[in-house]
Amino acid sequence: MIEKRDFYINGGWVAPSAANDYHVIDPSTEEPYAVISLGAQADTDAAVAAAKAAFPAWMATPVEERIAMVEKLLEIYQKRGDEMGEIISHEMGAPVDMAKTSQVGTGTWHLSNFIRAAKGFEFNRPLGEHAPNDRIIYEPVGVAALITPWNWPMNQVTLKVGAAAIAGCTMVLKPSEETPLDAMLFAEMMDEAGFPAGVFNLVNGDGVGVGSSLTAHEDVDMVSFTGSSRAGKLISKSAADTLKRVSLELGGKGANVIFADADDKAVKRGVMHMMNNTGQSCNAPSRMLVQREIYDKAVDEAAEVAAKTAVGPASESGRHIGPVVNAVQWGKIQDLIQTGIDEGARLVAGGVGRPEGLNKGFYVRPTVFADVNNDMTIAREEIFGPVLTILPFDTEEEAVAIANDTPYGLTNYVQTQDGARLNRMAQSLRSGMVEMNGQGRGAGSPFGGMKQSGNGREGGVWGLEDFLEVKAVSGWSNDAG
Ligand code: NAD
Repeated sequence: MIEKRDFYINGGWVAPSAANDYHVIDPSTEEPYAVISLGAQADTDAAVAAAKAAFPAWMATPVEERIAMVEKLLEIYQKRGDEMGEIISHEMGAPVDMAKTSQVGTGTWHLSNFIRAAKGFEFNRPLGEHAPNDRIIYEPVGVAALITPWNWPMNQVTLKVGAAAIAGCTMVLKPSEETPLDAMLFAEMMDEAGFPAGVFNLVNGDGVGVGSSLTAHEDVDMVSFTGSSRAGKLISKSAADTLKRVSLELGGKGANVIFADADDKAVKRGVMHMMNNTGQSCNAPSRMLVQREIYDKAVDEAAEVAAKTAVGPASESGRHIGPVVNAVQWGKIQDLIQTGIDEGARLVAGGVGRPEGLNKGFYVRPTVFADVNNDMTIAREEIFGPVLTILPFDTEEEAVAIANDTPYGLTNYVQTQDGARLNRMAQSLRSGMVEMNGQGRGAGSPFGGMKQSGNGREGGVWGLEDFLEVKAVSGWSNDAG
């Protein structure tokens, strides 16, 4: 078993102030994979103090140098990508091939996009021709606490660290206690890339411990949080006393609206997208809305695709899905599947219990419910497992109403061949992102939600802006040389 109890503070690995062991469990085997420490207030204080002390010099470092350091980090990240993939697959159960490509690949993508965005970003710019002595200067917010979840761990860590570093913030990362090892490898990479001591710090811990110490800390200027809406609310309250900036990326309950004229791969694509990462994605298309004319056929097809979705250990090569992250999530998903049955939804694939032949490990049967209505629990709550709900609709107006009838607003999806309808839908859906006909969003496109899906925008230019203050200056001298 791996033993990694230290934290990365002020440019070195330091022992926790008090012993507090925590076992990271491999969800494929239910066996301990590693032991780490959960930090205490003293560890948080030391990391925040280091970040605070490093801030003035890091802010004054020319942005070109900060970008160059992130370029170096990207080089190291790519070199050690397979190692990172192995760790992620043990910690949270992503099948190893998928972990090495999709999970690790998100980090490469985000760091590259930040580098490109930053090179085109004017950190000091004129207000406009009408006010020749006015300048707008973008400055780092200060010390940032970065709190991340376990489901796409490197996606979240790179989205925050890459942007904060280029913006000139110093930071304390608290990764999820379920996936601390990948973040510790990332800390090694930050060290190797040569970031000055104190710019990046990592303290492991849980939400009530290190998490809430960071969000309440007087010397933390902002919190960038990705995780559940439940924790997002607690964090907002905890941060209120010090009025720090809070950027939130929370849960989702995305609709995938499939019209009768959709392309013939739309249903299959939707089910596979739902099952990817064992359903543990905030932007999962978890409510499939299907127009009545093709409803029965779509339900049959979705059931067939789910039944053919292979489930197996994360260590095995191939295109199967792995277990869910832990026993708590497994139990929660089982309860929600049972609730779906009890509330009268029609189970057409999967169901409660483990898939055949898998008696140990947090495996869930790929499950599809048809005849769901939007008031049912399984249509309202984020299940965060491989469970798809299918709802029928008749008209475009009805589809929009159902899609928008949710506390969430992260990503919605649309499938139709009608161009005018595509554009109408894109404007009617209340979500931070709308993805249509299977086309992924482009490089540097902002990721974030509306309503209870949060208020942050991560990635590209918008991701940088999350970590920047806007300073308005008048009387700027244009003759200063
Ligand atoms: P979680 O909210 O339980 O934990 C996320 C992180 O917050 C962890 O590091 C945890 O230790 C910490 N935390 C928990 N309570 C806290 C508190 N009171 N104060 C400070 N920190 C606290 O979420 P999770 O189970 O790790 O992740 C799954 C959730 O994340 C899902 O709801 C998913 O939709 C969401 N998510 C959102 C996005 C997005 O960009 N919108 C991306 C990925 C995941």
